[in-house]
Amino acid sequence: MLKLLRAALVLCALLGVTIALAKPAPSPPSAPAYSIQALRYATIPGFPVSELVMGAPKNEKLDIAMVIWLIRGAGHNILFDSGFHREKWFKEYTIADFLRPDELVKSAGVPPSEITDVIISHAHWDHLGGIDLFPKAIIWIQKDEFRYYTGDAWQAGGNHGGIDPEDVEELVRLNTEGRLRLVDGDVQEILPGIRAFTGARHTYASQYLRVDTNGTPFIFASDNCYLYRNLTDHAASATFSDADHAANIAAQARMIDLAGSADRVVPGHDPAQFQRYPTKGRIAKIR
Ligand SMILES: [Zn+2]
Repeated sequence: MLKLLRAALVLCALLGVTIALAKPAPSPPSAPAYSIQALRYATIPGFPVSELVMGAPKNEKLDIAMVIWLIRGAGHNILFDSGFHREKWFKEYTIADFLRPDELVKSAGVPPSEITDVIISHAHWDHLGGIDLFPKAIIWIQKDEFRYYTGDAWQAGGNHGGIDPEDVEELVRLNTEGRLRLVDGDVQEILPGIRAFTGARHTYASQYLRVDTNGTPFIFASDNCYLYRNLTDHAASATFSDADHAANIAAQARMIDLAGSADRVVPGHDPAQFQRYPTKGRIAKIR
């Protein structure tokens, strides 16, 4: 009797194993499959490289790309940065080949009203200045960036270089309308598979993004790493203060770690991203 019971137990155990093997392996909490495109909305010709890569020769110039990134998947149409459109900036800078960011997004196949989220890397005019072009989007920005540029930046001793007061008013308005989300610090998941990281200090509390798509991570650095050359030369981008250069270089090393390869770190203003990835007109297909 005991023998029979033992045999039955062994059979059950074997069957159990067989059943377990036959079942598909439980899928890991995988990130959605996002499509990712770099959209070039303008060019600033002849930009001094020494303002992008600390320590570069003073006379070296580069036609830099003005870029926003469109990330689509899991029911979201997400922009990383929003570009700009206000007239005043065309007087301050030579801007070539400009196409307003909402028109550009439309040409990529997404009506501006269907942009669900705009994640802002930092508050400078050429990244924040297009948020009013996407009427239904939730806007995401670091809490400390919002606090600083709506407050202390405009007090004695504050630094608001490159900040458009109209953008600040727009941020405050969006907050009162319930369309602003404040991201609280480092390693924050904003949407499934999309995480924000801080510490690079391009502005008071700039952030960069990791997008995991089908298990492959990409880092979108924005101005926390302007050019591929920052990575290869281990040279800082412009930072909130000179004392932040070391933190910026450390953040760039972390970006490579987080992406698993320097090839999957996408710098903020490098025109080379439109050569490294298949490109049609203004749009590079990163993934
Ligand atoms: Zn910037």
